[in-house]
Order: sequence, then C-alpha cells, then structure tokens
Amino acid sequence: MTRYPSPSWRTSEYEQARQAGVTRIRTAHSDIPQLGISCEAGWLPLVERFLTEAKASLPEGTRLVGVQARQKWALLSLSCRVEPTPQDLKTYAGILAAEARASLESRRTCEVCGQPGRLRRTTERWLMTRCDEHHESLQASHQPDDDEPRAWGSGNVWTDLGLPDPDDDPGDKAD
Ligand SMILES: [Zn+2]
Repeated sequence: MTRYPSPSWRTSEYEQARQAGVTRIRTAHSDIPQLGISCEAGWLPLVERFLTEAKASLPEGTRLVGVQARQKWALLSLSCRVEPTPQDLKTYAGILAAEARASLESRRTCEVCGQPGRLRRTTERWLMTRCDEHHESLQASHQPDDDEPRAWGSGNVWTDLGLPDPDDDPGDKAD
C-alpha cells in the first residue's frame, strides 16, 4: 500500500494563504450560489479572471449559478451552470473562450505558486503542472517503493511519452 505523504510546501501557512484566496474570490462572487474551488493557490488568479470574463460574456437575463474549478489532467478544469439554460449554444461562446484561455494558461503556470511551470509526472505517476521548485520538493518528499524506478526519464512527460513538447510549438513563436 503506497502512502502519499504531504509535499513539503504544503505548510499550514500555505493552507491559510490558499484559503484566504478562495474566501476572497467567494466574497467577490457571492452571487454564484455554488462555487467550488479545489485547485491549489497558484491557479486562483486564473479562476478569478475566468469568473470575471465569463460573467461579462453572459447575455442579459442569465446568470452563473454553479462553477467548479479543479485540477484535471494537470490542467485547470472549469465547469459552469447557467440559468435560465440558454436555448442558443452560441450564448456559451464567451464562456467557452474564457475557459479555453484559463486552461491554456494553466498549462504553463505552476498550480502551487503561479510561477512559470510545465507538465510533470510525480513519483506516484500523477500528472501535474509545476515549476522546478515545486516539482523537486514533491520528488524529495517521497521515497518510492523499492521496486519502483527512481529515475523518470528526461523529466519532460511529453518527450518521455514520445510526443512532441507543446511548449516547442512553433505556432507559439509566430506573430
Ligand atoms: Zn511553483
């Protein structure tokens, strides 16, 4: 049975700061009855910007009644409920665009601290988006089982999987 010890950055100070950030967003968006935020502190600014953009894109007479912000597949995942349910799917275009922007930004933002990060695999084989510092502290905090390999290839999940690294996407460099 593998235990998942808490990484060294998860201190009570960190938890308090994260909770304060979540409370601040909840207070600013108290008009959303169901607002669930389970991601780490580094992505809270992305959640906040998404909420502002999503609200601004809603047609008159509709409102956000539910938003869930969480980490899924190492990216920020945002799901929304709008009431009354728009009949025209085009109504959602602004929310979808805001969601896509936040998800794309999370791909290069450390979920813990908000500094530049990239896709990593932890010793427990979870995929996470982390900066160097928060990747290394996670590795150091966990001794793998004896039969588990200690090395994890190049440390770049994309190339380890034989896939092109999206951060090398030449499209990013195009003007
Ligand atoms: Zn970090």
